[in-house]
Amino acid sequence: MKTIGILGGMSWESSAQYYALINREVRARKGGIVSAPLVMHSFDFDHIAALQRAGEWEQLGDILGQAAAGLEKAGADCILIATNTMHLVAPQVETRISCPLLHIADPLAEAFKAAGHDTVGLLATRFTMEQPFYAERLAQHGLKVVVPDESHRAEIHRVIFDELCAGEVRAKSREFYCDVIDDLQSRGAQGVALACTEIMLLIEQCHSPLPLFDTTALHCKAAVDFSMS
Ligand code: GLU
Repeated sequence: MKTIGILGGMSWESSAQYYALINREVRARKGGIVSAPLVMHSFDFDHIAALQRAGEWEQLGDILGQAAAGLEKAGADCILIATNTMHLVAPQVETRISCPLLHIADPLAEAFKAAGHDTVGLLATRFTMEQPFYAERLAQHGLKVVVPDESHRAEIHRVIFDELCAGEVRAKSREFYCDVIDDLQSRGAQGVALACTEIMLLIEQCHSPLPLFDTTALHCKAAVDFSMS
Protein backbone atom coordinates (compact mmCIF):
# COMPACT_ATOMS: atom_id res chain seq x y z
CA MET A 1 0.00 0.00 0.00
CA LYS A 2 1.11 3.55 -0.69
CA THR A 3 1.42 5.95 2.26
CA ILE A 4 -1.34 8.55 2.74
CA GLY A 5 -0.30 12.02 3.98
CA ILE A 6 -2.95 14.03 5.84
CA LEU A 7 -2.98 17.74 6.67
CA GLY A 8 -5.30 17.57 9.66
CA GLY A 9 -6.42 19.14 12.89
CA MET A 10 -8.85 21.44 11.02
CA SER A 11 -10.59 20.41 13.15
CA TRP A 12 -9.29 17.34 14.96
CA GLU A 13 -12.92 16.21 15.34
CA SER A 14 -13.01 15.47 11.61
CA SER A 15 -9.38 14.29 11.43
CA ALA A 16 -10.27 11.60 13.97
CA GLN A 17 -13.00 10.51 11.53
CA TYR A 18 -10.46 10.41 8.68
CA TYR A 19 -8.19 8.16 10.72
CA ALA A 20 -11.03 5.77 11.57
CA LEU A 21 -12.70 5.77 8.14
CA ILE A 22 -9.47 5.16 6.22
CA ASN A 23 -8.45 2.31 8.48
CA ARG A 24 -11.95 0.76 8.46
CA GLU A 25 -12.02 0.89 4.67
CA VAL A 26 -8.61 -0.79 4.46
CA ARG A 27 -9.72 -3.48 6.89
CA ALA A 28 -12.96 -4.02 4.95
CA ARG A 29 -10.98 -4.55 1.76
CA LYS A 30 -8.04 -6.54 3.10
CA GLY A 31 -9.33 -8.10 6.31
CA GLY A 32 -7.50 -9.15 9.46
CA ILE A 33 -5.36 -6.57 11.21
CA VAL A 34 -4.24 -4.73 8.09
CA SER A 35 -4.17 -0.95 8.62
CA ALA A 36 -3.33 2.04 6.46
CA PRO A 37 0.19 3.41 6.24
CA LEU A 38 -0.30 7.13 6.88
CA VAL A 39 1.37 10.22 8.25
CA MET A 40 -0.51 13.23 9.61
CA HIS A 41 0.45 16.81 10.32
CA SER A 42 -2.13 18.02 12.83
CA PHE A 43 -2.35 21.81 13.21
CA ASP A 44 -3.58 23.91 16.12
CA PHE A 45 -6.92 24.91 14.60
CA ASP A 46 -7.25 27.99 16.81
CA HIS A 47 -4.27 29.49 14.98
CA ILE A 48 -5.47 28.40 11.53
CA ALA A 49 -9.02 29.71 12.11
CA ALA A 50 -7.68 33.10 13.24
CA LEU A 51 -5.74 33.40 9.97
CA GLN A 52 -8.88 32.39 8.01
CA ARG A 53 -10.90 35.13 9.73
CA ALA A 54 -8.15 37.63 8.94
CA GLY A 55 -8.17 36.58 5.27
CA GLU A 56 -4.51 35.59 5.40
CA TRP A 57 -4.85 32.98 2.67
CA GLU A 58 -1.37 33.44 1.26
CA GLN A 59 0.17 32.83 4.67
CA LEU A 60 -2.11 29.81 5.11
CA GLY A 61 -0.98 28.48 1.75
CA ASP A 62 2.62 28.79 2.91
CA ILE A 63 1.93 27.06 6.21
CA LEU A 64 0.05 24.16 4.62
CA GLY A 65 2.51 23.92 1.73
CA GLN A 66 5.44 23.62 4.11
CA ALA A 67 3.65 20.95 6.13
CA ALA A 68 2.74 19.03 2.96
CA ALA A 69 6.41 19.06 1.91
CA GLY A 70 7.25 17.68 5.36
CA LEU A 71 4.73 14.87 4.96
CA GLU A 72 6.22 13.97 1.60
CA LYS A 73 9.67 13.91 3.15
CA ALA A 74 8.25 11.62 5.85
CA GLY A 75 7.15 9.15 3.18
CA ALA A 76 3.72 10.30 1.98
CA ASP A 77 2.89 9.22 -1.58
CA CYS A 78 -0.16 11.52 -1.75
CA ILE A 79 -1.52 14.46 0.23
CA LEU A 80 -5.04 15.00 1.58
CA ILE A 81 -6.15 18.37 2.94
CA ALA A 82 -8.67 17.11 5.49
CA THR A 83 -10.92 20.17 5.25
CA ASN A 84 -12.94 21.55 2.34
CA THR A 85 -12.24 25.17 3.26
CA MET A 86 -8.48 24.87 3.10
CA HIS A 87 -8.73 23.67 -0.50
CA LEU A 88 -8.84 27.40 -1.14
CA VAL A 89 -5.03 27.16 -0.93
CA ALA A 90 -4.73 23.79 -2.72
CA PRO A 91 -2.94 25.38 -5.73
CA GLN A 92 -0.26 26.79 -3.38
CA VAL A 93 0.15 23.46 -1.63
CA GLU A 94 0.54 21.69 -4.97
CA THR A 95 3.54 23.87 -5.87
CA ARG A 96 5.40 22.49 -2.80
CA ILE A 97 5.00 18.77 -3.45
CA SER A 98 5.80 16.33 -6.21
CA CYS A 99 3.27 13.66 -5.17
CA PRO A 100 -0.43 14.11 -6.05
CA LEU A 101 -2.84 16.16 -3.94
CA LEU A 102 -6.15 14.30 -3.87
CA HIS A 103 -8.69 17.14 -4.13
CA ILE A 104 -11.74 16.63 -1.89
CA ALA A 105 -14.23 17.95 -4.47
CA ASP A 106 -13.27 15.39 -7.13
CA PRO A 107 -14.66 12.23 -5.47
CA LEU A 108 -17.68 14.32 -4.42
CA ALA A 109 -18.35 15.30 -8.04
CA GLU A 110 -17.86 11.74 -9.25
CA ALA A 111 -20.29 10.31 -6.67
CA PHE A 112 -22.84 13.03 -7.42
CA LYS A 113 -22.76 12.38 -11.15
CA ALA A 114 -22.82 8.61 -10.65
CA ALA A 115 -26.10 9.10 -8.76
CA GLY A 116 -27.47 10.79 -11.89
CA HIS A 117 -27.64 14.35 -10.50
CA ASP A 118 -26.23 17.64 -11.74
CA THR A 119 -27.33 20.30 -9.22
CA VAL A 120 -25.55 20.29 -5.86
CA GLY A 121 -26.84 21.98 -2.69
CA LEU A 122 -23.80 23.13 -0.73
CA LEU A 123 -23.54 23.03 3.07
CA ALA A 124 -20.16 24.34 4.14
CA THR A 125 -18.30 27.17 5.84
CA ARG A 126 -18.89 30.70 4.56
CA PHE A 127 -15.48 30.52 2.83
CA THR A 128 -16.47 27.44 0.84
CA MET A 129 -20.00 28.65 0.08
CA GLU A 130 -19.04 32.22 -0.85
CA GLN A 131 -15.62 32.12 -2.48
CA PRO A 132 -15.49 30.74 -6.02
CA PHE A 133 -12.86 27.99 -5.62
CA TYR A 134 -15.24 25.18 -4.67
CA ALA A 135 -18.11 25.87 -7.08
CA GLU A 136 -15.52 26.30 -9.84
CA ARG A 137 -14.02 22.90 -9.14
CA LEU A 138 -17.50 21.32 -9.27
CA ALA A 139 -18.26 23.25 -12.47
CA GLN A 140 -15.19 21.64 -14.06
CA HIS A 141 -17.05 18.36 -13.53
CA GLY A 142 -20.17 19.80 -15.20
CA LEU A 143 -22.07 20.39 -11.94
CA LYS A 144 -24.18 23.37 -10.91
CA VAL A 145 -24.21 24.64 -7.32
CA VAL A 146 -27.03 26.08 -5.20
CA VAL A 147 -25.90 27.86 -2.02
CA PRO A 148 -28.07 28.71 0.99
CA ASP A 149 -29.21 32.32 1.35
CA GLU A 150 -27.26 34.85 3.45
CA SER A 151 -29.00 34.36 6.79
CA HIS A 152 -28.75 30.59 6.44
CA ARG A 153 -25.05 30.80 5.53
CA ALA A 154 -24.28 32.77 8.69
CA GLU A 155 -25.91 30.18 10.96
CA ILE A 156 -24.46 27.18 9.08
CA HIS A 157 -20.99 28.71 9.53
CA ARG A 158 -21.59 29.49 13.21
CA VAL A 159 -22.69 25.92 13.95
CA ILE A 160 -19.53 24.54 12.29
CA PHE A 161 -17.10 26.69 14.25
CA ASP A 162 -18.90 27.21 17.59
CA GLU A 163 -20.36 23.73 17.93
CA LEU A 164 -19.08 20.95 15.64
CA CYS A 165 -15.38 21.91 15.70
CA ALA A 166 -15.72 22.26 19.48
CA GLY A 167 -17.18 18.76 19.81
CA GLU A 168 -20.81 19.76 20.38
CA VAL A 169 -23.67 18.14 18.46
CA ARG A 170 -27.07 19.78 19.09
CA ALA A 171 -30.53 18.59 17.99
CA LYS A 172 -31.65 22.20 17.42
CA SER A 173 -28.81 22.75 14.94
CA ARG A 174 -29.70 19.50 13.17
CA GLU A 175 -33.27 20.75 12.74
CA PHE A 176 -31.96 24.02 11.35
CA TYR A 177 -29.71 22.23 8.82
CA CYS A 178 -32.70 20.12 7.72
CA ASP A 179 -34.76 23.29 7.17
CA VAL A 180 -31.94 24.61 4.99
CA ILE A 181 -31.95 21.35 3.02
CA ASP A 182 -35.71 21.78 2.40
CA ASP A 183 -35.01 25.26 1.07
CA LEU A 184 -32.17 24.01 -1.17
CA GLN A 185 -34.52 21.35 -2.54
CA SER A 186 -37.17 23.94 -3.39
CA ARG A 187 -34.47 25.87 -5.28
CA GLY A 188 -33.50 22.93 -7.48
CA ALA A 189 -30.84 21.00 -5.55
CA GLN A 190 -31.05 17.27 -6.30
CA GLY A 191 -28.64 16.24 -3.57
CA VAL A 192 -26.65 17.90 -0.78
CA ALA A 193 -22.88 18.02 -0.40
CA LEU A 194 -21.75 17.94 3.20
CA ALA A 195 -18.84 20.10 2.08
CA CYS A 196 -17.40 20.64 5.51
CA THR A 197 -15.71 17.66 7.08
CA GLU A 198 -17.53 18.02 10.45
CA ILE A 199 -21.13 18.13 9.17
CA MET A 200 -21.31 14.33 9.06
CA LEU A 201 -21.13 14.48 12.87
CA LEU A 202 -24.48 16.36 12.84
CA ILE A 203 -26.63 14.94 10.06
CA GLU A 204 -27.07 11.54 8.53
CA GLN A 205 -29.10 10.32 5.58
CA CYS A 206 -32.08 9.44 7.79
CA HIS A 207 -32.48 13.15 8.66
CA SER A 208 -32.58 14.45 5.09
CA PRO A 209 -35.22 14.43 2.33
CA LEU A 210 -32.42 14.78 -0.27
CA PRO A 211 -29.54 12.34 -0.80
CA LEU A 212 -26.44 13.39 1.16
CA PHE A 213 -22.89 13.26 -0.17
CA ASP A 214 -20.41 13.28 2.70
CA THR A 215 -17.06 14.70 1.62
CA THR A 216 -15.26 13.17 4.61
CA ALA A 217 -16.24 9.62 3.66
CA LEU A 218 -15.73 10.19 -0.07
CA HIS A 219 -12.28 11.73 0.46
CA CYS A 220 -11.22 8.82 2.68
CA LYS A 221 -12.42 6.28 0.13
CA ALA A 222 -10.47 8.09 -2.62
CA ALA A 223 -7.35 7.95 -0.43
CA VAL A 224 -7.74 4.20 0.06
CA ASP A 225 -8.30 3.71 -3.68
CA PHE A 226 -5.04 5.58 -4.28
CA SER A 227 -3.17 3.73 -1.57
CA MET A 228 -4.15 0.35 -3.00
CA SER A 229 -3.71 1.23 -6.67
N1 GLU B 1 -13.43 21.19 8.42
C1 GLU B 1 -14.19 22.24 7.84
C2 GLU B 1 -14.22 22.16 6.32
O1 GLU B 1 -14.23 21.08 5.81
C3 GLU B 1 -14.04 23.58 8.42
C4 GLU B 1 -12.77 23.91 9.07
C5 GLU B 1 -11.95 24.85 8.26
O2 GLU B 1 -12.36 26.01 8.11
O3 GLU B 1 -10.91 24.45 7.75
O4 GLU B 1 -14.31 23.14 5.63
